[in-house]
Amino acid sequence: MNTESKPYFTRRHLCQALTATLIASATSSIANGATVEPKNWIDAHSHVWHPDTNRYPISSNFKKEAMQPASFTAEELLAHCQPAGVQRVVLIQMSFYESDHRYMSEVMQRYPKTFSGVSLIDWNRKPLQREVKRHKRAGMRGFRMHSRGDAQGWPTDRNVQQLWKLANDQDLAICPLINPEDIPAVDALCKKFPNTKVVVDHFARIGVSGKIEKDRLDQLCRLAEHRNTHVKTSAFYALGDKQTPYLDLLPMIQRMVAAFGSDRLMWASDCPYQVQTPHNYQSSIDLIEKHANFLSETDKTAILRGTAERVFFA
Ligand SMILES: [Zn+2]
Repeated sequence: MNTESKPYFTRRHLCQALTATLIASATSSIANGATVEPKNWIDAHSHVWHPDTNRYPISSNFKKEAMQPASFTAEELLAHCQPAGVQRVVLIQMSFYESDHRYMSEVMQRYPKTFSGVSLIDWNRKPLQREVKRHKRAGMRGFRMHSRGDAQGWPTDRNVQQLWKLANDQDLAICPLINPEDIPAVDALCKKFPNTKVVVDHFARIGVSGKIEKDRLDQLCRLAEHRNTHVKTSAFYALGDKQTPYLDLLPMIQRMVAAFGSDRLMWASDCPYQVQTPHNYQSSIDLIEKHANFLSETDKTAILRGTAERVFFA
């Protein structure tokens, strides 16, 4: 059941929204006793969930043990973001909630200036146009397409094709979470729907095996020929050596910048996974902000704010 269209603006939520706005607009925030100037960075991909599964039920296809950690609420997420200068986050619907966007929608309404959202949609549901519009009305700015080994069938799937067309009609982004071998499938869809905004998650997971495959990286770079295609430079904890400070990922980021330009790249942490020991939030942002010496200040601003702002907040 999907309850996105339910009204959530109770008095409690309005009070919380006011508090959240005050937090977000503060000129400085206090973390660990130190004053941190806000840089207004955007984290383009993180998840939140609530430990109360009676109030926010997870899908029967998942076990509660899949929720690791057991709790990762919006407030827990912001406690990691704000000391690092991150003021806004694009929330990505968590797989175990499937199409029930209740918690994410509540959070987006409670903190309207802080969060944007990318939802999960069942593209086989009819009429799809009504579904797409319903998600848009709920404030969603894109759809997540999670490949479960089926991505190679996407280009010829009529419902997937319709989703890509409708996303363009409604100015929503398609966000494929794919494996490296699925890049040609996304390439085929980008060719067919050149105006659809596309944001590929986590470098198409190149490096998840521990090895950055050059031929796959070449394929990912070729997606840059489609002018509306973007890449998330993200999930550093899961790629390459998978060890802070993730310096082995710098050549891959450099290639992305050369192919796409910083205006089509966006940094993201992929919390809560990025904040599980021995990883932490700051080391993810540091890779772009402090270690990527090949980036100009303008590049950094684009990757850490501008691109995500244009695609998910404008
Ligand atoms: Zn994720």
